[in-house]
Amino acid sequence: MRDLAKHQGLRNQLVSLLERKGITDKNVLEAIRKIPRHLFLNSSFEDFAYQDKPFPIAAGQTISQPYTVAFQTELLQVKKDDKVLEIGTGSGYQTAVLYTMGAKVYSIERQNELFKSTSLLLPKLGIRPKHLAFGDGYKGLPNFAPFDSIIVTAGAPYIPQPLMAQLKIGGRLVIPVGEDVQVMTLLVRKNETQFEKHEFGDFRFVPLLEDKN
Ligand code: SAH
Repeated sequence: MRDLAKHQGLRNQLVSLLERKGITDKNVLEAIRKIPRHLFLNSSFEDFAYQDKPFPIAAGQTISQPYTVAFQTELLQVKKDDKVLEIGTGSGYQTAVLYTMGAKVYSIERQNELFKSTSLLLPKLGIRPKHLAFGDGYKGLPNFAPFDSIIVTAGAPYIPQPLMAQLKIGGRLVIPVGEDVQVMTLLVRKNETQFEKHEFGDFRFVPLLEDKN
């Protein structure tokens, strides 16, 4: 598949829709305007790739809806050269958004099939995360910590303590918390022991799985 003028046209329309839905961070919107989302999907979804919808990817997982990607990324307040940890690499689309915004991206995926295919895809698209890991996102990446921000792209039944510990002071953790429905939650680290918590309404994600395959 290639990236054609018609795809760019559809991306411009998607960005306008995200603005109407309340996304204001220009860097987020410009990243979404640039990234060929159709190349992160199976070719049978090419015609739908710029609808504001989630789609199935391999291993029974989903690529998040663009609005959700934009909403979470806006909450992170990404600045150039920020060190960002993503839990749930999946298709690599969110990884690409963070990279395009100038972040140094670290990402973890527990499905080997997705880890392998996305590790091959991203360099082909010129996207170079600092580190892609195959493993359990509940544990974070202690060897690379601390991070300016952490984004969890699967629904977490609770906030994993290691992720809080791997955040810099002033850092931001964006995580959907809940079982069937998740509340988008932002934790801002105030000091060694204190975190400020903000909640932003309901979303639906595939589950952040623990200790099983
Ligand atoms: N950011 C992805 C979203 C994929 S859906 C994208 O843009 O496409 C969420 C992903 O989280 C799935 O790929 C799933 O396999 C992964 N996941 C679930 N539990 C996980 C865990 N404990 N550690 C790492 N990844 C996990």
